[in-house]
Amino acid sequence: MKRMLLLSLVSFLSLQTAGWAKPAPEGLQKEALKTFQDYLRLDTSNPPGQELKTARFLKQILDHEGIENQIFDLGNHRANLYAILRGDGSKPPIAFLHHMDVVPADPQFWSVPPFSGQIEKGFVYGRGAIDIKGKGMVDLFTLIRLKREKQPLKRDLIFLAVADEEVNSLGARRLIHDHPELLKKIEFLIDEGKTVTEDAQGKALYAMVGMGEKSPLWLKLTFQGTPGHASVPMADNAVNRALQAAGRIMHFAEQLPFQVLPGLEDSLRLQFGGDVTRLPGYQKDMATSLKNPLFLKGLAQVPELNAMLRNTISITGMKGSDKTNIIPNQASLTLDCRLLPGQNKEVFLKQLNEAIGDPSVKIEVEEYYQSLFSPPDSGYMRSLKRVLHRYSPGLPVIPTIFTSSTDSSLFRALGINVYGFEAYRVDEATSQRAHGNDERLGVAGFFWGLDLLHELVLDLNQN
Ligand SMILES: [Zn+2]
Repeated sequence: MKRMLLLSLVSFLSLQTAGWAKPAPEGLQKEALKTFQDYLRLDTSNPPGQELKTARFLKQILDHEGIENQIFDLGNHRANLYAILRGDGSKPPIAFLHHMDVVPADPQFWSVPPFSGQIEKGFVYGRGAIDIKGKGMVDLFTLIRLKREKQPLKRDLIFLAVADEEVNSLGARRLIHDHPELLKKIEFLIDEGKTVTEDAQGKALYAMVGMGEKSPLWLKLTFQGTPGHASVPMADNAVNRALQAAGRIMHFAEQLPFQVLPGLEDSLRLQFGGDVTRLPGYQKDMATSLKNPLFLKGLAQVPELNAMLRNTISITGMKGSDKTNIIPNQASLTLDCRLLPGQNKEVFLKQLNEAIGDPSVKIEVEEYYQSLFSPPDSGYMRSLKRVLHRYSPGLPVIPTIFTSSTDSSLFRALGINVYGFEAYRVDEATSQRAHGNDERLGVAGFFWGLDLLHELVLDLNQN
């Protein structure tokens, strides 16, 4: 009895950590790691980005492998790169996107030089390691491996490396504008987003995938009033109008309704970080509870979750007179609003205008783009689950949304299903270092990712 129990425990454990069917050859792993280090050594801090040098770096590797590719020079030492490994065209293409620029790094806060690509205790360190040059390397070496293996492909595999994601998305915008023909028919585009989270022993705990992002809607509100010398207060003071409006806007924001996008139940529970069953209004299970406004209110006490559950408004700026003793002609507020995917901007603006209730207000849209939500039950998601479950049976694969935006939204707007998933394993502490100090990626998790993506592409080739 005891022995049987032990045996079943052993087989259970071995199921949990099944290896890949065909692990990458050691030589390929070494090559990928060395190339990753070299890639991190090319400083593409944005501004100024200067991604032409990384585009040339990638081109040289692709040329050597005989993979068709092209650099698009954007001027000012900036560039995009496009590469394609052709299939027989019987299935639509899949694209892998990453940005070559990184956010700046201040060496005085790092324990290794940020552009050294140094390896310490099983981690590759460098600005861009997990945002997002590491993903770029997994994408690149998956193409290289498939090419070397002479795998018969049904789908074209497209590799996209763009400039300027961290500042203005110049690269993605120019690619979409200048070369729409290259993006035609893409069924799935895989961009930066979430990963497989592992524990301290390297065991996969769950995978998370970004389905959508909120739409940024940046507004400038201008209020008119009667100007004059401040020694004689005016009832019709433009600054007073702006202040009153600010109060009404805050009230309006508090009343904005909750909306739970389909498939986000697990993501909300996981990101809550505590025991959701203790929140007031919890009933039966997460899906039922999310229909209860009382429960939603409790969840929304966590600012990150609040932002996933409703449209939001942050008042970020206010301007009145430059002089203390002058009542100005006009005063203004700036608002950073973020709308859930699928929301109607015009309806939101109309409601906001009504809430402000000031006939003098002029609302200008400074930045907006529609953000969509890719389906959580697509062929890509099914393949990802299938492949991850082969490695780790029952591993939760959890859809989520992002409250800020990346290049993904620009491609979703073209009607492409975009998923935010980086094929590697990352521990919690490491994942928090994106844009922070000592950014890094674990070597074991990186190698694991090479196999995950290889197997995923082969699965998508069949299904
Ligand atoms: Zn990024």
